[in-house]
This record gives sequence, C-alpha cells and structure tokens, in this order.
Amino acid sequence: MTSTERGIAAAEAHSAHNYHPLPVVVATAEGAWVTDVEGRRYLDMLAGYSALNFGHGNRRLLDAATAQLERVTLTSRAFHHDRFADFCTQLAELCGMELVLPMNTGAEAVETAVKTARKWGYKVKGVPDGRAKIIVADNNFHGRTTTIVSFSTDPEARADFGPYTPGFEIVPYGDLAALEAAVDADTVAVLLEPIQGEAGVLVPPPGYLAGVRELTRSRNVLFIADEIQSGLGRTGRTFACEHEDVVPDMYVLGKALGGGVVPVSAVVSSREVLGVFAPGEHGSTFGGNPLACAMALEVIAMLRTGEFQQRAAELGEHLHSELAQLAAGGAVAAVRGRGLWAGVDINPSRGTGREISEQLMARGVLVKDTHGSTIRLAPPLVISKEDLDWGLDQLRGVLEG
Ligand SMILES: *Cc1c(COP(=O)(O)O)cnc(C)c1O
Repeated sequence: MTSTERGIAAAEAHSAHNYHPLPVVVATAEGAWVTDVEGRRYLDMLAGYSALNFGHGNRRLLDAATAQLERVTLTSRAFHHDRFADFCTQLAELCGMELVLPMNTGAEAVETAVKTARKWGYKVKGVPDGRAKIIVADNNFHGRTTTIVSFSTDPEARADFGPYTPGFEIVPYGDLAALEAAVDADTVAVLLEPIQGEAGVLVPPPGYLAGVRELTRSRNVLFIADEIQSGLGRTGRTFACEHEDVVPDMYVLGKALGGGVVPVSAVVSSREVLGVFAPGEHGSTFGGNPLACAMALEVIAMLRTGEFQQRAAELGEHLHSELAQLAAGGAVAAVRGRGLWAGVDINPSRGTGREISEQLMARGVLVKDTHGSTIRLAPPLVISKEDLDWGLDQLRGVLEG
C-alpha cells in the first residue's frame, strides 16, 4: 500500500462519507501549489472554493496569525477585545455600509441574514407576525443547515432532511419578471448569489442585478447578496455586485474573509437593518474572536490596495480567452464566469466532470467537478500567469489528447 492509499483508507474507515474527495492526500502547500504525502506537486485550481483567494501560506496572513496567536485568541463576546472595533469599522468601510455582525461559517452568516431580514420585516416594515417571506433563486447554494436546505432545489442537498422551514419562495434565477410576480406585501427580502458558484458559475443575464436592486428598493424589500464565494476579489472587483454598479442592502461574506486560515463570516448592512438586534437575540461563541478579526483585518488591508482585484481581472481575461479557444475545439460545451472564476461544461462524450478531474489530477492539476459534467476553475488570485497557462495546457491535454 502506498502512503496515499493508507491515508485514504484510514480516512474512509472513520469519517462520515458526506464527501467524495479526489484520491490525493495533501501534506503541505505554498501559493497556488500543494504537495502530497508522496512528494508529488499539484496546481490548486480550486483554492478551497475561493476560501484561499490569497493562496496557501500567504506570508502576510501567516505573520498576522502568528502575532495574534501570541497575544490572545479567544475572549467570547462576553468581553470586548482590542481587534474587534477595527475589524467592524474596516469591514463596514470596505463594504460601504454601517454595521457588521460577525459569525464563523458561511451558512451561519446566511442564517443570520435570514433572521435579520425577518426581524426587520416585523419591526421596521410592519409585516404581520409569522408571515415574513424571503424569495430565493432556483439552483441556489447558501449552505447546509436545515433552514437553508429547506429552500434548496438540489435533491442531494435537501431530500430526507425535512420537515422543512417555511417562509421561502423559489423563483428562476435570472428571471426578473418571475421575481417581480413573487414579491408581495409580506416579502421582506430577496436572497441571491450575484453569480451562482456551486450551480456551475452561472452569471445572470446583463441587467438582472440592477433590475433586482430597482425592484427591491421600490417595493421596500431587502436585497441580500450572498457574496461568500463571489466576493473579496474573485471576479475582478471587491464584490460581484459591482459589475452592475449595484449596492445591495446586505452583504453576506465568508470563505476568503478568513484568509484560508480560520473560518470567518459576517453580515454587513445598514444601521436600520442590523440595528434590529438587541443583546441576547443572536450570537456565536467564536464569532468575531481575536484571531478571526486579525485574519480578516489583514484580508481587508490586502483588498484595500486593489491589486488582487486587478490581478483577478487581468488573469481572468486571459483565462476566459483561452477557454473560449478550447470551447471552439468542441471538447467543451459551454464556458461561463467572470474574473479568475470559470465553470466549464465538458462535452459528455469526453467523460464526466469527475473523470476529467481525475485525469487532470494525474497531470498535476486539482479541480472539482459539479453537477455531472461541469468543472469549476478558481485558482488562488496569487497564481502566476505561467502557472495558469501550465494548468490550462493540462486541461487542453486532457480534453484534446
Ligand atoms: C460556500 C458557500 C456558502 C456556505 O459557506 P460554509 O462556510 O460552507 O457554510 C454559502 N453561500 C455561498 C454562495 C457559498 O459559496
């Protein structure tokens, strides 16, 4: 047995099988590259679903983490700590908003957004108690809690986990007329991904986000943008909503906010909206802890320079022009995306997304398939153009070789 086989067998023996990982056992990582237990190197073109936007072992992030580890890591929110104010102030400023409510995982932040919107609906908008409705899109991915899977349209995510939380209506993604028809007097919020990541990097039709903004504003409904995967540089802007000059009422952030070191998520909004909470009504033991704040502060500082957004925009343009050429060859049925983020639908005659991922792995590139025949490319934003080209060469080799 190789050490890879041993590692996989041991993991499978004592873990729930809620994932089907590629057969690679990573031991170390740096930048856009990981090294497995047998010393083989792979280009990481998934980047922890965009949690690793700044790469593995980023020096600035490691230094910030080390410094904070030596000072204080956890206080709970029962006490103040000296990184919290800066974190909230600077994140609010990055978002152009007023208040921040920190949590840990993305799903918790989405749950927080749901609770916020409902309470805002009852206390500010005046919706009758128990009637608040939130509109979501089909093919959404917002996390894995019982409430969130209640409004999933993916049978794998939802089946056998009922009874389901009521209060959600699902409309087709990208269809403004359907959304408009669904808005009623009890509607408190529209919750959307500005680009649907897990669905296969689906970009809505031009004008959709701006239309959602106009509709929600005119009907006194909150526009909640789940930018957990699309935000913080991935698409070439700080937020994907910016591509349509849209500012939602609330950002939901996670993944890259923790720099790939610790889970950090947050809901960011106005005083009118996030101001609905009083002490005791919501919280989290680890939310906003000193280490989390230190990581997020470093992430915010890096984003403030704009260099990562620019990199994602420039390398993204290159990525998409290369993928367009590949698509012209016939092995690829469709390519979507924005910035350094792409969903590539493989022509089914070339194999499933999983098979393509395994063939890429054999050539030293790690990606993740989604929904059968799609692979998703989202390398760390720190990837070099040479490495990106090398990764694309491997994809070309798999598809055309
Ligand atoms: C990953 C993701 C989530 C859930 O985040 P977790 O940290 O896995 O709970 C929610 N929304 C979107 C858009 C995501 O990509």
